[in-house]
Amino acid sequence: MARDQERDQAVAPTASAAEPAVRVEGLWKRFGEQIAVAGIDLDLPAGRFIGLVGPNGAGKTTTLSMVTGLLRPDQGRIRVAGHDVWSDPVAVKSRIGVLPEGLRLFERLSGRELLGYTGRLRGLPGTEVDKRATQLLDVLGLADAQHKLVVDYSTGMRKKIGLAAALLHNPEVLFLDEPFEGVDPVSAQTIRGVLERYTDSGATVVFSSHVMELVESLCDWVAVLAGGRIRAQGTLAEVRGDAPSLQSAFLELVGARERDAGEHLDWLGGAR
Ligand code: ATP
Repeated sequence: MARDQERDQAVAPTASAAEPAVRVEGLWKRFGEQIAVAGIDLDLPAGRFIGLVGPNGAGKTTTLSMVTGLLRPDQGRIRVAGHDVWSDPVAVKSRIGVLPEGLRLFERLSGRELLGYTGRLRGLPGTEVDKRATQLLDVLGLADAQHKLVVDYSTGMRKKIGLAAALLHNPEVLFLDEPFEGVDPVSAQTIRGVLERYTDSGATVVFSSHVMELVESLCDWVAVLAGGRIRAQGTLAEVRGDAPSLQSAFLELVGARERDAGEHLDWLGGAR
């Protein structure tokens, strides 16, 4: 893809020299008997649009939760934007934005009040918060709903106000867990535009998804996770290899086999 190649050429010389946006070494997390993350090493370069992909239960949310300081690892080291997530949490949290899965928002605030509150928490001056909030609400198509309570927002509107709150302090690295889930195509296009502008300015986006077409069209760098382990990581072209699409490379990497539905579901749709 022309856009990937352009991006590879544009960022490759500096990205290797610079500190990665995220460095993960020997990361483990167990929930009782369940091993959710089994010794992950990751180097996510700065200035890229990065997709963390994997099937259901692969460990994506658990990994992102640990990387963003929301869940304590059993073992391992994580550095984000040059700082250790667990020994230097304030430095990391001031440099990142997070849109977590199952985002909890202050439901009894309006969208604008939520941004005002978030901006003050981030230590931004009031006038700057107002200016940025107005621009974000406008670009994300929430201007008309800015005085509505968040509890009355739709799923897509909640994603967009969560994204606005995550971007308000202009973070170096933005983490998004399934940002397009439940979002209509028009809003998805708006979100894409905002994120592309943000990465074009040198910032890093890390987002999780199972939608390969989306990852293929948006990301220039991909990490594939399955069964709590990294199966591949690199530029989109490296991970895709000779496969015709990221989807087929992904199926190959995660060892998916076509199950014979005809054999196992012989009762389904037959004569009643
Ligand atoms: P999905 O794409 O379905 O959201 P995921 O890749 O984000 O999946 P995780 O949510 O990280 O996967 O889950 C990884 C594994 O850890 C799963 O087997 C899950 O059941 C388990 N797990 C995650 N959180 C917990 C928890 N709090 N308690 C027990 N098990 C958990």
